Amino acid sequence: MPSTAPLTPPSAPGIEERSESPPAGAAQERALLRHLVDAVADPLLFTSPEGQVLMANARARELLVAGEGASEGYRRAVELNQRLFHTALLSSITGGASPVRRRDLSLVDPVEGTDLLFELDCNLVQEPGNPAGRVCVLRNVTDLGRATRALGESYRRLRASEQEARSERLRLDLVLDSVADPIILTDPAGGTVLMNDPAERLFAATHDSGEATRRRAHTNDAHLSSFLSHLLSPGGARRWRGELALVDPTTGAPLPMEGIASQVLNDQGEPTSIVTLLHDRTEAREKARLLEQLTAASNELEAKVHTATAELAEQNEKLRRQALQLEQASAAKSQFLANMSHEFRTPLNAILGYTSMLLQGVNGEMTPQQRKNLQRIDSNGRHLLQVINEILDITRIEAGRMPLNETDFMLPELLQEVMAEMDPIIARTKLTVSTALAPELPEVHNDRQKVKQIVLNLLSNALKFTHEGSVQVSAAYEMATSTVAISVKDTGIGIAPEHLEKIFEDFQQVDSSPTRAYGGTGLGLSICRRLAAMMGGRVNVHSTPGQGSTFTLQLPRRMRRP
Ligand code: ADP
Repeated sequence: MPSTAPLTPPSAPGIEERSESPPAGAAQERALLRHLVDAVADPLLFTSPEGQVLMANARARELLVAGEGASEGYRRAVELNQRLFHTALLSSITGGASPVRRRDLSLVDPVEGTDLLFELDCNLVQEPGNPAGRVCVLRNVTDLGRATRALGESYRRLRASEQEARSERLRLDLVLDSVADPIILTDPAGGTVLMNDPAERLFAATHDSGEATRRRAHTNDAHLSSFLSHLLSPGGARRWRGELALVDPTTGAPLPMEGIASQVLNDQGEPTSIVTLLHDRTEAREKARLLEQLTAASNELEAKVHTATAELAEQNEKLRRQALQLEQASAAKSQFLANMSHEFRTPLNAILGYTSMLLQGVNGEMTPQQRKNLQRIDSNGRHLLQVINEILDITRIEAGRMPLNETDFMLPELLQEVMAEMDPIIARTKLTVSTALAPELPEVHNDRQKVKQIVLNLLSNALKFTHEGSVQVSAAYEMATSTVAISVKDTGIGIAPEHLEKIFEDFQQVDSSPTRAYGGTGLGLSICRRLAAMMGGRVNVHSTPGQGSTFTLQLPRRMRRP
């Protein structure tokens, strides 16, 4: 078994003596040998065949021997180195599981504390006449190891970059192919480096393609080359934008394209490639064409609207003039009627006055026939006066010359007056005429005379169109709306639903035939409705033919001018 005993510091540097002193010549030779061995930079050791160290050079001693005054750290490093060296030496000698003559040996630099890598090379030396031994050389391969590691690292990095570049290229291909627009990458001389699928469809015809398709693809290519020439020519542009009149190689359909080409520069500003992006302008052109059509249509429409507006304005002007003329004509008519009514009334009042005097016997007694005729003159004269008065009222209202006289009055008194005035006519009928007044009727603030005129008109109509039964005049007050209502209800002939609105129009009667049974002008209700409206109220009717009618005047308790 080889000795694993640690080396003891040799008494003299160099070779450990193990035999008696040699003769003087041999000692000299030995000293020379020792110097030679010490001069070797790598650790060098001579051991017995079993591994016991017999001699170590200076470098080996530095690593494996701790001198007297060595520090604690130094000693520990040396101890560790001795153990590592012996283990390596033993496995070199015995071969272990796999005998290797050269093996790596990691030691520690006892001074620096850094790791050192050696290659241990032990050879058995057998000189005739000398005992066998082993010469062990420790070749320092620390730097080599470092370099190998650095190389490995560089290689790994290179592989990683290569991998990255490959996946980058893959990603770029995917991106390029996912872009719908054709993209072409060319070298600075114009040679195609890369193109995406849409670009390939335009420029690269395959062998399977027909003759026509190949020809069109070549024509497209020629167009692209001429487009790129703007950048390729010496002193050419860095970036170029323009139109390319390409065609679909398969169908031959025109494909107007807009192209943008840019030079890609390296860090030194030199062009490395040219990227060209094409964009199909077909849709944009179609949109532009539609927009043009739309604009034209819109302009046409605008012109038409302009003409129509002008025509409308002209028509409006005409209508305005006609309305003015009508207004003037209506005013003239109203004025004429007012004048004529006045002209009629003056002589008519004279006729009625004289008739009344004659009937009173101012000029002596008359024969019964004369009296009868005179009464007819009186009756017709009064009817005529009523017609004239009504026409005068209508014209006054239309001309806005019907004044309103507001006063406070109580409804019971007003209705009493109406009944009293109508008494002679009521007396001539066989009707039951009554009044029904709600309790606590409030004071009314309105045009008393006009309210009375309306009620008189409604009552005289009720008496005229009722042959039997009754007529009732009632008054009520609705607090919620602050409205008074005066109703005249009869059991007369009634009015058909289709005539209910018509009867409020000027000169409208249910029976307007020349042979009609009832007299009248057809102006009464029209005047009533207009007067009621002037006072902020209204007149409405409910009627059933053959059963009777109810006319109601609704008025605000306090006048509200419309
Ligand atoms: P006039 O009584 O002078 O004909 P009005 O304007 O007062 O004019 O009435 C218009 C028409 O309304 C009358 O001709 C009549 O046909 C109808 N009318 C008015 N009041 C009544 C009523 N109480 N019953 C039935 N018909 C009526």
